[in-house]
Amino acid sequence: LAQILKISPTQIVGFALKNLGLMVTINQRLDFDQIELIASEFGFQAVREEEYLADFGEETTVDAEEDLQPRPPVVTIMGHVDHGKTSLLDYIRKANVVAGEAGGITQHIGAYHVSLPDKRFITFLDTPGHQAFTAMRARGAQVTDIVVLVVAADDGLMPQTIEAISHAKNAGVPLVVAINKIDLPQANPGKVKQELLQHNVVLEEFGGNVLSTEISAKKGTNVSDLLDQLVLQAEILDLKANADKRATGTVVEAQLDPGKGPVATVLVQSGTLRVGDDFIVGQFSGRVRALLDERGKQVKAAGPAIPVQILGLTGVPMAGDQLIVVEDATQAREIAQRRERLDREAKSRRTSKGAVTLEDFMNVASAGEKRTLKLLIKADQGGPAEALADALGQLSNEEVVVDIIQRGVGAITEGDILLAKAAGAIIIGFHVRPDTKARTAAEREGVDIKLYRIIYEAVNDVKAALEGMLKPEQ
Ligand code: GDP
Repeated sequence: LAQILKISPTQIVGFALKNLGLMVTINQRLDFDQIELIASEFGFQAVREEEYLADFGEETTVDAEEDLQPRPPVVTIMGHVDHGKTSLLDYIRKANVVAGEAGGITQHIGAYHVSLPDKRFITFLDTPGHQAFTAMRARGAQVTDIVVLVVAADDGLMPQTIEAISHAKNAGVPLVVAINKIDLPQANPGKVKQELLQHNVVLEEFGGNVLSTEISAKKGTNVSDLLDQLVLQAEILDLKANADKRATGTVVEAQLDPGKGPVATVLVQSGTLRVGDDFIVGQFSGRVRALLDERGKQVKAAGPAIPVQILGLTGVPMAGDQLIVVEDATQAREIAQRRERLDREAKSRRTSKGAVTLEDFMNVASAGEKRTLKLLIKADQGGPAEALADALGQLSNEEVVVDIIQRGVGAITEGDILLAKAAGAIIIGFHVRPDTKARTAAEREGVDIKLYRIIYEAVNDVKAALEGMLKPEQ
């Protein structure tokens, strides 16, 4: 269950003890009601298999191997501010218009796909940075197959580069590195590669498996090589989907358009979405009135990994919401109503906010397995951040691992909260505080933030938490 919910087993054990009054161990079976409560706590909805099949039919479950065809990779571009993410997205958007396809990509619908020679496609999420990526992950949606890490060769690895590496690593998404701005005289790609190595990003030339290209996003130098590498990485990942069934997809962007009404860009994940399809998305039902591509052109259908803007919604869904095509309008309305009810019930039932707290670790008796306490450290300066990370890392012992998923300098940001939520981590702040957006996000997501001004106190608290986690002496 923890794996499916993308959290640590300890979080389930902690939640069960604190909110359900159950002393469970990792080997214990949970009944449906308990699973439903736990799932809703962590942002998921548990549905009985019979009910699910009644709603969506067999075809939305498992695909037979012979029904699967290769699908394009979905790529997100991340990296430090000003390292060239937007320039790269712009260059690809403008330059890669295959012969015969008139007009560049003019609309920003949140994602676009480009065609390469020999009929290949790559889909890019059109929001650079890790905010969109983590926001979706925090909602349980994982749409990115590959992260392009842009690093400016004249600047090297910077805090947000390192953050992006953590994000990708945490999500288990492979990186392809684009060393950018090589047209600048002061560019030093060698230094970038060394720095990457220090952060455990081992490029192919050093015997690792991370692909990289030296590019200039401004001039377009080697961008086609980068695209080739994305195709190669996609082949390694062996991405496949069944295009021949009712569609499911994920909302990447949605808003109320003054002219068109509610619109949403959906990345189709399996099946084919067609004009006239009845669907549910989040708590809304609807019928596809029109599909628009990133060129503002009407299309009749969209297959796996292809983004389209949908018209015909009854409300504005949220990024990360699932879209599922159903049998007919009546079924769509029924499911939407049930979802709304379940959501209301889950909300009123919600006792705590979900994510891990340091106290959870102190309260929870051991489950007899090696556990991991994940920490995200933010400090006012690099020195203390390192010192704290070292001191806390050293608290690991035979039974409990302290995993510093990220250390950084500066105020605690919304991005930190979303990463912590996605990873099931606690945030340790040293001489820093969360900014306003981060505070709201922490409250909403239930992420535990501990603030310290003395390293010794932070170490003591974590130590106490770990002792709470230790197995009782036999
Ligand atoms: P972002 O913040 O990562 O999206 O970075 P931008 O794409 O906005 O780029 C920041 C600045 O770097 C802009 O002034 C770009 O013109 C410049 N830039 C981006 N790529 C290159 C490049 O390959 N070479 C040079 N010389 N400048 C670049």
